[in-house]
Amino acid sequence: MKRKRVVVLGATGSIGESALKVAHDIPERMEIVGLAANRNAQKLAAQANKVRPPAVCLVDETKVGELRAALEYEPRIFSGESGLVEIACLAEAEMVLVAVVGTGGLQPALAAIEAGKDLAVASKEILVMAGEIVMREAGKKGVQILPVDSEHNAIFQCLEGRFQGSGFRVQEGGSAERNFSEIRNLKPETCADVRRLILTASGGPFRNTPASEFEGITVEQALKHPTWNMGPKITIDSATLFNKGLEMIEAHWLFGVEMKRVEVVIHPQSIVHSMVEFSDGSVLAQLSHSDMCFPIQYAVTWPERVANSLPPLDFGRVRQLEFATPRYEDFPALNLARRAGEIGGTLPAVLNAANEIAVSAFLERKISFPRIWETVSAVMDRHTNVAHPDLDAILRADLWARDEAAGFVKSLHC
Ligand code: MG
Repeated sequence: MKRKRVVVLGATGSIGESALKVAHDIPERMEIVGLAANRNAQKLAAQANKVRPPAVCLVDETKVGELRAALEYEPRIFSGESGLVEIACLAEAEMVLVAVVGTGGLQPALAAIEAGKDLAVASKEILVMAGEIVMREAGKKGVQILPVDSEHNAIFQCLEGRFQGSGFRVQEGGSAERNFSEIRNLKPETCADVRRLILTASGGPFRNTPASEFEGITVEQALKHPTWNMGPKITIDSATLFNKGLEMIEAHWLFGVEMKRVEVVIHPQSIVHSMVEFSDGSVLAQLSHSDMCFPIQYAVTWPERVANSLPPLDFGRVRQLEFATPRYEDFPALNLARRAGEIGGTLPAVLNAANEIAVSAFLERKISFPRIWETVSAVMDRHTNVAHPDLDAILRADLWARDEAAGFVKSLHC
C-alpha cells in the first residue's frame, strides 16, 4: 500500500476536477504533486492553494502573472507548451494523468513515458493519433498505460478480473509489442481467449431522433448529454458518436485487438461501462454510476481496490438496463472510425483533426450537425496515408487535416 504521486495535466477540466476529488477521498493512496491547466489561471490557483502541489503549470504564458498573484504559496511554476512537457517529467511524480483537451497532451505524454512515468490516459487523442508509438515506447520503458476513459477502464477491469493481473494475450493478430502482458514484463504465455471487446455508448441526445431532423439540430440541443457531464468538445462527439469511434481506435491500440473485434452497443443508462466476450461465449461487464471518479481511482490504485466514499449502485433504483444496435447508417462516425482504425497509419490522426475542426465550426454555428460527418469523410478521402508514421509524420498529417477541414467548412458555409 503506497501513496501514488500524480501530476494532473488538464486540472481545471472535468476529469481534472474528478481527479482532485479522488485524491481528497483516498489521501493515503493518492498525492497530487503537479497541476497543469491551459489558461484558467484563477481556477488553477484555487486548486493549487487547496492541494499545495510542489509544481504548477499554465500553458498560456500571458496569464502566468495572474496565476502567481493568486497563489498563496510558492510552488515551482512552469509555463507554455514546453512547461507542460517539463511538469510531465517532474522528478517527484510516478504517474501522469493526461486529461488535456485536443492534441496538446501527446508530446507531454511521450515525454512522461520517456522519463519512466506510468501514464493514466484520459485524452483519447494520444492513442488515436499515435497508438503504435505510445504502446511501443511504453513497452520499451516498461511503464504502464492505464486507461481512464470509462469504457477502456471497464474493459481493463474485465480482463483483470478474469486473469487476476497476470496479463493476457489476444486470440489472433494482436502483435506482442502492443500487449499488456509484454508491457508489464509478465509471462506472455498466460493466454486468454478474448473474442470481442464491446464498448457501450449512451447514444447521445439524438439516439431516437430521425435522421431527417438532423439538419435542424441546434448547438444547445447537442450540448445536452443525457448521462455524462463533460466539456463541449466531447459532448458534441458523444452526440455524433465520433467519441465512440475514437474509443474504438483507442481500444484497438490499448488492448492489441484488431478493429474487427471491437464492437459498439448502445446502452442509454451508462451503467454498464463496457464488456468483454471470451471464446466460450461468457461476457464480463463492469458496472458503476457514471462518475469519472471510479475509473480515475482504479487507474491510480491498480492493481489494488481501495474503499472510498462513492455511492454504490442501487439496482432497485436502476431497474432497467437497455441495449440496442447502433444506427450505423444514420451515424456514419462509427464506420468512418472503423475504416481509419483498420487502415491505420496517419488516417486516425486525420479523422481526429478533421473532427476537431468540424466540431468547432458547428459550435460556432458555421455548419449544421450532419456536416460534421461530411467534413471528416471528405478530408479522409483526400488524405494520402502514411503507414507506420513517426511522430513528425503524424503531426504533419494532423496539420494538413486541420487546413483541409477548415477549407471544406469554408466551402460549405459560403
Ligand atoms: Mg468514454
